[in-house]
Amino acid sequence: MGARFQRTMMKALGATDHVMTVISATNLTLGFRRIRFSAPTMIDGRETPTASYVRLWAPDPEDPAKVHQRGYTLVDPDAATGEVSFDFVLHEPMGPASAWAAAAKPGDTINASYYMFQKFEPPENPEGYLLMGDPAAIPAINGILSVLPSEVAVIVILQAQLPGDRDIPVTFHPGAQVFWTGDGTGALAAAVPARDWSNWYAWVAAEHAAIKELRATLNRVHGFPLADIRHTAYWMRGKAMRLRKETGRDETETTAPVTAPALPQPAETLQKTPPRWRSQGGQELLASLRWKLRAAGVLQAVISLMQLAPLVLLAELGRRLLAGEANSETLTPLIFWTLGLFGGAALLSTVLMVWLHAVDARFGHDLRRSVVAKLARLPLGWFTDRNAASVHQAVQEDAGRLHYMVTHAVPDVVAGIVTPLAVITYLFTVDAALAGLLFLPLLAFVGLFAHMMRGVADKLVEYADWTKRANAAASAFIEALPVVRVFGGNADAVRKVLNGQAAFLNGWQRPMAGRKVAAQLAIQPPAFLLLITAAGCWRILSGAMLPADLLPFLFLGTAFGTQITAVMYGFVPMREARQAANRIGTLLEAPELDRSRSLRALSPGSLGLRFQKVGFGYRPRKPVLQDIDLILAPGTLTALVGPSGAGKSTLAGLPGRFHDVTEGAIRLVAGETEIDIRDINPQVLQRTVGFVFQDVRLIKGTLRENIALSRPDASQAEIEAAACAAHIHQRITEAPRGYDSIVGEDIQLSGGEAQRLSIARALIADPPILVLDEATAFADPESEHLVQQALGALIGKRTVLVVAHRLHTVVHADRIAVMDRGRIVQQGTHAALMAEPGLYRDLWQAGERKTS
Ligand code: ADP
Repeated sequence: MGARFQRTMMKALGATDHVMTVISATNLTLGFRRIRFSAPTMIDGRETPTASYVRLWAPDPEDPAKVHQRGYTLVDPDAATGEVSFDFVLHEPMGPASAWAAAAKPGDTINASYYMFQKFEPPENPEGYLLMGDPAAIPAINGILSVLPSEVAVIVILQAQLPGDRDIPVTFHPGAQVFWTGDGTGALAAAVPARDWSNWYAWVAAEHAAIKELRATLNRVHGFPLADIRHTAYWMRGKAMRLRKETGRDETETTAPVTAPALPQPAETLQKTPPRWRSQGGQELLASLRWKLRAAGVLQAVISLMQLAPLVLLAELGRRLLAGEANSETLTPLIFWTLGLFGGAALLSTVLMVWLHAVDARFGHDLRRSVVAKLARLPLGWFTDRNAASVHQAVQEDAGRLHYMVTHAVPDVVAGIVTPLAVITYLFTVDAALAGLLFLPLLAFVGLFAHMMRGVADKLVEYADWTKRANAAASAFIEALPVVRVFGGNADAVRKVLNGQAAFLNGWQRPMAGRKVAAQLAIQPPAFLLLITAAGCWRILSGAMLPADLLPFLFLGTAFGTQITAVMYGFVPMREARQAANRIGTLLEAPELDRSRSLRALSPGSLGLRFQKVGFGYRPRKPVLQDIDLILAPGTLTALVGPSGAGKSTLAGLPGRFHDVTEGAIRLVAGETEIDIRDINPQVLQRTVGFVFQDVRLIKGTLRENIALSRPDASQAEIEAAACAAHIHQRITEAPRGYDSIVGEDIQLSGGEAQRLSIARALIADPPILVLDEATAFADPESEHLVQQALGALIGKRTVLVVAHRLHTVVHADRIAVMDRGRIVQQGTHAALMAEPGLYRDLWQAGERKTS
């Protein structure tokens, strides 16, 4: 492919052209040269995504009129100065780009095309990152290392092609282990250590053949799904864009003995279960459909041909009639065939649709059932707002997308491909020259479209920028609205931004409108009709074609353009459905509570709780709680205090198995025996450890049902007693239908009332251990007083853990545990803690300063 053509294609795909001027050049190692450029048109303040690269157009050393392209990763772009560096690998013998770089001096210029949509986009929270490549990949790997969170595990395997390569600077990352391997096409693939790579993400970049081999090895030997490997081939042995010129070496030859680097083999090497990736869930979900969808595709292809056949036959009929071959012996079979095929196609089409809908109904049913079953097995702590939104999306939107894919997408796409292909093949047999002309409008469409896409990358960035500014201005305006209303002011700032955004959109889209319409018109039936009539008449008049042969073209050729472009649109829902399957798959892969442990019985009686060396993190290697040792003696009240984010709420959720501890254990203490909470039947645990949260969730139902939630068989007397103790009975009797009032319909509860109702609910459940998130945000003092009284009744003789937000409420606690950054830093009574210097006393003093 010529360089000019490549450049045109890249531009059509949104690349932008720039001239860069050399400012300085430094050899970082013997074979690794960093050149700093001034590139003000490229580095102009727009976002430069991690590991994004340019294509440099390096002059051919022998023929300066020729240029070769190669990818280079942006290093240290500086928007303030418009400068950016690129690292060049200078191995002997050199390719054109390296030769240019070796001789480059300040003032030299070179052309570059920036294709900024190449981004580093790993899946959410992978277990670790495997980054592999040769020296040419190091700049990109350095870029990636600089943006990875510090707590993640990273394994970097680099290929040294020259001894000096090992001195090339690699960006420091606290979790990264860096290994070097020898040269040769297979070296990287051979260097991948055997271990459990479950949920790891691989980013690999090197020479074309090496990448092919590495990708295959990662997939087949180590189990990486292809979706979890991001690969880029930077250069190719024996091609003009290579690093080296032909050296006479065999392309697949390995030049150095290939040895795996001495990577530590983790204990998981002895794994029994095969490795597993979150992306696999989605694939497996679709696997059961695969053969059915393939069969549907084949059947649809047959149907499409059958549907087309009557039209072809009718065209033939017309041709024969015009040609004067009208006798019933030749025409009758044609008519019967036409009717037969038409009827047959309709019948088969109905069968296909009915069958696909049955497949879909089954699939949808199974899918929803597995999602619901999965929800029941997930730990309570999983149900954050964000995850709740993902369930909503999975059950409503994603299931709908899959429905479309199963029932419609495959037939639509297959019909979209088969029909125009069959049409054009048939038309070629009628008149090849006229059939060939039908591609002209399509070429015009592609040309106009490509022209429209030029510079779109820049425009999209600018558009994103305007959107961000408009959003920021709108939020600032809404936030300030109350002040503006009271004290005056106007919306000039937001109006200015919105006007600017509108002007930008206008300036961008208006000139394109004409081209857009032209591109659309080029493929509409009238354009084809015009072309067929004009070109057909001309061919008929010049004696090159029979008049009757025009008929098939008029019958079948006019819809050719719309049919072909419909296919392009048909692929979009297929891609969306695959993404939907991936999202549902990820949901189905979410880690569940371990229920495999033996279940031990719990004898009744007073219970305490012991946290022993407990550690916990929401994500691997990011501990939120560490080394927690805490004893809640039976019948005592323990308060957790500490700054926001210290881990109090996280700790308080663990006894209810909102999440399972990652280290240590939490045990129920009953006299002399201690039982790990993971060894207790989850339902029993639920009855044993009760929770009262600040944010009360009321179910849609009567007040009675809300109070007796944990024990629907509770008697009216019990319910009323609980409501009395929780100081909510009177409010209930004032409601229109008393205990039978429906929450949200007959009665609206204030925050304090809902809180007291939840206390009555906890009294009915009567758990021996109680975890309270202390109520804070009640506006009216009377309600707060009632809540406090109700809490007093609830606490009674139970074992209680309170997450305290205000210090004065913990003064009488039996024990206070002071938390800071995931650890318990002090423990004791109020008096003891106040007597010693430390965080507790500091918190009190800070509180007093605030109130004084
Ligand atoms: P506190 O209750 O003391 O304010 P939390 O237990 O709420 O502290 O939070 C402790 C740390 O855990 C914080 O850094 C918080 O950002 C993090 N965290 C809390 N909940 C989640 C969650 N569901 N997922 C991830 N991180 C969380």
